[in-house]
Amino acid sequence: MKCSYCGNELPRNGGMMYVFRTGKINYYCSGRCYKYDIVMHRKLKKKAKATIAARPAKPDAQKPETPKQKT
Ligand SMILES: [Zn+2]
Repeated sequence: MKCSYCGNELPRNGGMMYVFRTGKINYYCSGRCYKYDIVMHRKLKKKAKATIAARPAKPDAQKPETPKQKT
């Protein structure tokens, strides 16, 4: 299932489903996408699309390195 706003794949057992009175169903991967689409009625701009696409995966910099064993 893909997000109706940003097009990203929905997380497993996650995301939101929004049902319109007309019966149309929109899926959202996050509350942000829901808010932008339903509440703020924002249309995805090229800039936003590029931002989402260009956003790199979280680097593992915060992960503490395995302590080196002293020989
Ligand atoms: Zn989304």
